[in-house]
Amino acid sequence: MYQKSIADQAKGLRAKEFSSEELTREYLDRIKRFDPQLNSYITVVADFAMAQARIADERIAKGDAGPMTGIPLAQKDIFCTNGVRTSCGSKMLDNFIAPYDATVVERFNQAGAVMLGKTNMDEFAMGSSNETSFYGPVKNPWDTKTVPGGSSGGSAASVAARLAAGATGTDTGGSIRQPAALCGITGIKPTYGRVSRYGMIAFASSLDQAGIMTQTAEDSAMMLNVMAGFDERDSTSLDKPVPDYTANLNNDFKGLKIGLPKEYFAEGLDSGVASVVEAAINEYKKLGAEIVDISLPNSSLSVPAYYVVAPAECSSNLSRFDGVRFGYRCEDPKDLEDLYTRSRGEGFGPEVKRRIMVGAYALSAGYYDAYYLKAQKIRRLISDDFKQALNQVDVIMAPTTPTVAFNIGEKVDDPITMYLSDINTIAVNLAGLPGMSIPAGFSQNLPVGLQIIGNYFDESRLLNVAHQYQQVTDWHTQIPKGFE
Ligand code: GLN
Repeated sequence: MYQKSIADQAKGLRAKEFSSEELTREYLDRIKRFDPQLNSYITVVADFAMAQARIADERIAKGDAGPMTGIPLAQKDIFCTNGVRTSCGSKMLDNFIAPYDATVVERFNQAGAVMLGKTNMDEFAMGSSNETSFYGPVKNPWDTKTVPGGSSGGSAASVAARLAAGATGTDTGGSIRQPAALCGITGIKPTYGRVSRYGMIAFASSLDQAGIMTQTAEDSAMMLNVMAGFDERDSTSLDKPVPDYTANLNNDFKGLKIGLPKEYFAEGLDSGVASVVEAAINEYKKLGAEIVDISLPNSSLSVPAYYVVAPAECSSNLSRFDGVRFGYRCEDPKDLEDLYTRSRGEGFGPEVKRRIMVGAYALSAGYYDAYYLKAQKIRRLISDDFKQALNQVDVIMAPTTPTVAFNIGEKVDDPITMYLSDINTIAVNLAGLPGMSIPAGFSQNLPVGLQIIGNYFDESRLLNVAHQYQQVTDWHTQIPKGFE
């Protein structure tokens, strides 16, 4: 059952080939057997999952089921889950049991999906390798010496190793697309505002967006159908009708204009990754697409602008973790000052502290104009580049990452090199656009992702473009050796 896509599992459940209880049990057994090698879950909720599966089976029997009813999923541990620990990968929230569900979680519950557990992640979603987690690094199932990417590394590894049928993720600067690419799965970051951020622990609020990690584009469409939509509890949620994302998957896209931004194919791109991406683009030509060379001239400014805006927002968002209102509190504080400083000093890891310091500095009175304001202006230039490009073409394609998965430990001591592993994904967040990564082949026996970027609210088109490619290729069906 575990080899099947969500779409096929849903058919199997409906046809009574198997029950949700059987399916859920299979995943729980696989987690027990394989997760010690990967560390992709922080918390597994076996009893809770089995109880949800039984309810799902009743709903299916009564004919009261939707397409996601009974499907076993994993939630990134950044989404609050009522009664279940929500750690955000941090010692700060190691003992935090959320008293409510995030909107995303609530919607999956209503749809009758099963939650297997909460996946490992970089601390407060800050990272590109899942090495900043308080719970230890996640391993990439394609080669356990390498990183799965981050920050949604646990979600990516669990889906790649088939320890969940699908998983949620969040993407502030690439945290869905980059790990999806490095783990050989499909990931979509929707338009900013398409999916509610309520109950999703904030890192950089103007960039954070919840999304999806699955085997196939069709599965992503099914999950997006549940997640997308207005939520009055999130002030940046957009009140726009939600289409059926599965409806246009089979549309013919002859004449589709694909833009290739020259800046994304320049120096720094690994040659093995480049040839895989070129082959994928040739496949699109065969499917009837037209290729257009384009330029996104301010691309080189995206990483520096992001590393001002994101830390600035995080320094403000993370001020709520003070040892009083949430989570970790130091032992025997002498006074209030001591309680604040030691709780934060002991509760946060080094990468989080680095970001808080950079952010507080960039926002300070004397430096605000030089850094924060400047970064905001660059952000506008970057969105304008995309606007212009998307006037000429329907979608933009590029490598998701400049290299395949790197080794655990290789970049931890060099934050700048680590930050550059998101060079191809960050601009999309600064502009608020939707972006996807789909498996396009292998280089050095490790997966390579093709990134597809679209216009605001054009998720249906991205999913259609991805799905058509998956009809003529089988990269997305491959399971890492040792996890079959
Ligand atoms: N790697 C980027 C960072 O560390 C992006 C993280 C994310 O998208 N959450 O900020």
